[in-house]
Amino acid sequence: MKIVMLGAPGAGKGTQADRIAEKYGIPHISTGDIFRANIKEGTELGKKAKSYMDQGLLVPDSLTIDLLMDRIAQADCKNGYILDGFPRTIPQAESLTRALAEKGEKLDYAVNVDVPDENIVNRMGGRRACLKCGATYHIAYAAPKAEGICDKCGAGLVLRDDDKPETVQERLTVYHDQTQPLIEYYEAEKILATVDGTQDMERVFQDIIAVLGA
Ligand code: ADP
Ligand code: ADP
Ligand code: ZN
Repeated sequence: MKIVMLGAPGAGKGTQADRIAEKYGIPHISTGDIFRANIKEGTELGKKAKSYMDQGLLVPDSLTIDLLMDRIAQADCKNGYILDGFPRTIPQAESLTRALAEKGEKLDYAVNVDVPDENIVNRMGGRRACLKCGATYHIAYAAPKAEGICDKCGAGLVLRDDDKPETVQERLTVYHDQTQPLIEYYEAEKILATVDGTQDMERVFQDIIAVLGA
């Protein structure tokens, strides 16, 4: 099964992608996590990506598309994958469609987690991220067992630089300009499913499962 998650920053794509990946036994691929890992390791790619990410802007397609194509060519993607945070632009979506078509493949679903802007700032302010394993928490809605410590790997949790309110506003603007058009793109491809992302995490997950099938 090949799935892409759509939705505003903070809509809950990563949270749901983790659960879907576990249920269907496919890898959860987050371009944001790949960039953050590169920043942490101090790679050239990381340095370039950071300057855009810190401003709430998208990393250019020229740095993003090949990275994702290499990732989905790896052996663990043989039976499918769930993409979280890619595509984010029409050229990214077109590249993915084309690359899959060359192999006689296509995406199965684009799941749009719908959350209005007014809920997003609150979600982002409370988000805490583990930069070691990629897990995310929320201080009110998904608190870790011990404050500030990742349940999964024991590393310290942080408020991401780009989750500060000024940057969140910019990211929402970028989302509406560049990423929201993908909803129509996948609607035209007849694989779009929209779920109400303002519900609690379990409800959102059940709605997604209802679309994907057990
Ligand atoms: P969120 O989960 O809050 O939506 P991500 O972790 O997906 O955030 O992305 C963080 C940042 O990484 C984005 O604001 C952007 O700068 C960069 N990024 C991630 N994926 C992409 C992509 N597919 N294209 C361009 N930039 C990306
Ligand atoms: P995205 O990957 O779309 O940026 P995340 O999955 O990281 O979003 O979720 C953003 C924040 O909101 C996290 O702190 C997460 O724990 C929290 N969150 C996710 N889904 C829900 C939900 N249904 N209700 C309340 N909070 C949620
Ligand atoms: Zn962790």
